[in-house]
Amino acid sequence: TPAIYWIRQDLRINDNAALMAAAKGDRPVIPLYIREDDLAGALGGAQAWWLERSLARLGEAYDELGTGLVLKSGKPGTIIADLIEETGAETVYWNRRYTPDGMRTDKALKQKLRDDGIDAQSFAGRILHEPSKFETKSGGPYKVYTPFWKAFSADPRIADPQDAPDRLTAPDTKPQSERLEDWKLYSGKPDWAAGFDDIWTPGEAAANRQLDRFIDAIAEHYASSRDRPDIEATSMLSPHLALGEISPATIWHRVGRAKDLSSENRKKFLQELVWRDFCYHLLFHAPDLRTENWNSRFDGFAWQDNDEAFDAWTRGRTGYPIVDAGMRQLWQEGTMHNRVRMIVASFLIKDLMIDWRKGEAWFRDTLVDADPASNPANWQWVAGSGADASPFFRIFNPVLQGNKFDPQGDYVRRYVPELEDMPAKHIHAPFDAPRDVLDAAGVTLGKDYPKPLVDHKKARNRALAAFEKIKD
Ligand code: FAD
Repeated sequence: TPAIYWIRQDLRINDNAALMAAAKGDRPVIPLYIREDDLAGALGGAQAWWLERSLARLGEAYDELGTGLVLKSGKPGTIIADLIEETGAETVYWNRRYTPDGMRTDKALKQKLRDDGIDAQSFAGRILHEPSKFETKSGGPYKVYTPFWKAFSADPRIADPQDAPDRLTAPDTKPQSERLEDWKLYSGKPDWAAGFDDIWTPGEAAANRQLDRFIDAIAEHYASSRDRPDIEATSMLSPHLALGEISPATIWHRVGRAKDLSSENRKKFLQELVWRDFCYHLLFHAPDLRTENWNSRFDGFAWQDNDEAFDAWTRGRTGYPIVDAGMRQLWQEGTMHNRVRMIVASFLIKDLMIDWRKGEAWFRDTLVDADPASNPANWQWVAGSGADASPFFRIFNPVLQGNKFDPQGDYVRRYVPELEDMPAKHIHAPFDAPRDVLDAAGVTLGKDYPKPLVDHKKARNRALAAFEKIKD
């Protein structure tokens, strides 16, 4: 009898434990993707764009392997029960997920299936090690990254990736499938994601090509340049990881074994990759990471409701060029450089004193790599409310950050064309530039480019004063 392999955020064929187990001994396999009712809304707009394309590629891959892909919409319990009835399947396998609602659904379903005599099993593969694997000497979760990394690297046994099967056996009758075109996952009218196509190719094949490209041409200056948004210096693998088009173990081993890579670059990259595991470790131990401050002292923080300022932030019209460039990159490309994510998040939280949860939600909707662990964990890190938090008083100065990490202003010029002719010396603080410099660059502040929304120095003091009130 056939095995159902329930696909979730693991849109790949290679290094896929649930698929391998389902196909064992040439057992017929039904690869099933469910558009889940209950998780509606969990998927942001940018990721819906990605998912639509990735599912199309995955469907082609399963056609080539001989089974095709079955698409269904609704509640997993009902759909899987119907499919068992229709096909006589006695086995249902999936790879684990770690969001609280996802885990709740999966746990209840596994129990129900087992009660009905079905072999229901879940497998690891979304992260390098299970989120419960590491604990501190006193038995709780790690709250700080460095000791987590130490524990992680003390036991770095990560199974070698498994190659995809060449061929899968299809069940005698293929179950009915909905049509991807009918789902209209991304309905861009107007087509706000037009710029995504220029830089992204969703799907497993593209994920592997990107990893090769990173190892061949980029990784050799990762450690020295990864903080520079004006240079191509990072892997750009995060959206592929977010939808599971490539396994973290594949990345771990390919980078770990890459020839001609200095140990400094290798280690720095692997440490960043393990941050992702650390975020899942935090999510596992604090399932409400997205909605609740890890540090409850922040529950009393005097967040400001300021729709106008929030709107200016989302549109990249704060008057601080590095912030605006980042927010516009996010809108145009569905991504933002890590250093700039920290700068714009700090600006929202500290300069505008807007609740980090509003920023997290905006990122969730607009990032192609939106991740239920990495996004809230990083927002809480910047806010200072998180487990491993940057101290609240460390407030990024957007001008100094711009000068340091985008020294020629090329990143700003790419996304803020109205400042194209500003010289490097003044591009990160046009509000302080002499009149003749602005005139020569054709910039009138307040007309071509906004005046700053806040005075950073004053805003900083205001945030510190608000923080003093919740400090003890
Ligand atoms: P590389 O530098 O090539 O790193 C390789 C991989 O390591 C990344 O693909 C990612 O999987 C992992 N990684 C690197 N840095 C981090 C980090 N700080 N936390 C967790 N994993 C990391 N990353 C997401 O994947 N999804 C998110 O929703 C997300 N939201 C963020 C929100 C904020 C406010 C901040 C400051 C960071 C956020 N990040 C998020 C982390 C980081 O910015 C991205 O993972 C990184 O920019 C992706 O680019 P890359 O693949 O080229 O990274």
